[in-house]
Amino acid sequence: MFSDLRRCLLVVVWVGASLFSSARAFSAADQPIFSGDRAFAWLERQVELGPRVPGTAANRSLRELILATAREHGLSATTQCLTVVDPLGGEEVEICNVVVTVRGTGGSREGRLWLGAHFDTRPISDHDPDPKRRGLPVPGANDGASGTAVLLHLMEILGDVPPPTEVNLLFFDGEDSGPAGDVNGFCLGSRHMAETWQEFGSPLAGPAPRGLILLDMVGQREVRIPMEGYSLQYAPQWTRSVFDRAAELGLTGLDPAPGRPVYDDHVPFLGQGIPAVDLIDFAYPEWHTTADLPAACSAASLRQTGALLLDLILRP
Ligand SMILES: [Zn+2]
Repeated sequence: MFSDLRRCLLVVVWVGASLFSSARAFSAADQPIFSGDRAFAWLERQVELGPRVPGTAANRSLRELILATAREHGLSATTQCLTVVDPLGGEEVEICNVVVTVRGTGGSREGRLWLGAHFDTRPISDHDPDPKRRGLPVPGANDGASGTAVLLHLMEILGDVPPPTEVNLLFFDGEDSGPAGDVNGFCLGSRHMAETWQEFGSPLAGPAPRGLILLDMVGQREVRIPMEGYSLQYAPQWTRSVFDRAAELGLTGLDPAPGRPVYDDHVPFLGQGIPAVDLIDFAYPEWHTTADLPAACSAASLRQTGALLLDLILRP
């Protein structure tokens, strides 16, 4: 009885060890899988923190979570903080971008890829159908958390599977605090990063990237991302190359049809001559309302842009 049990345990241990080693061998030799479920868990975790409005404890908590996740996976991460005048309230507020660097296996920084998303959320729900709720902050499941969730899950993967060339993950603060209709109040963090990226001391200083891919509102159920207008106008080649890869991978959430122009965090980089594409599905009824919740989003949608970025990272 005893020896039978011991033999049984040995078999279990051996099977466990062989499964473990084959899983390791698979991840090293083949392309890892982007998990929509894992990204969705990151989306929910952000919403649980509360609205991530600049200057609030929830915004700081998310910044710390991004930094801690990067370091836990062996990636370097730095903040870039500046004081701005809150476009809605008029008082001074500190905003902090986060830059995470994933070093390439060859050590070369040429042709690096920039991936961005804003992690702040809007302080008011000015498009809410209920006028009484328009003063409340947006929960930001799609508008803020979706793109950030994709980048957080990519960090988990890239800690184990380094890419051939360097990748920089840009988490923007202060994207969404402007008064409706006035672009000057939006994209405060990205504007600063785009204006200073070449300066000494900037976390991005170095060779020009081959391009920037921005994720914004990529989590809504049955996502359909067209070719955003400014991306197509000012970076047509880069935009088409990204959509071509999506088609090659069978990712039907990206639709290579011209879309409306959206003033977003990619515009300041286009202004600096950097090819940039905004992956955004603006047809979202919950946009800038208190219903921008995880229930309006899906893991399957997050997988669309996640799988695309992972492929572009590993097969530049
Ligand atoms: Zn927004």
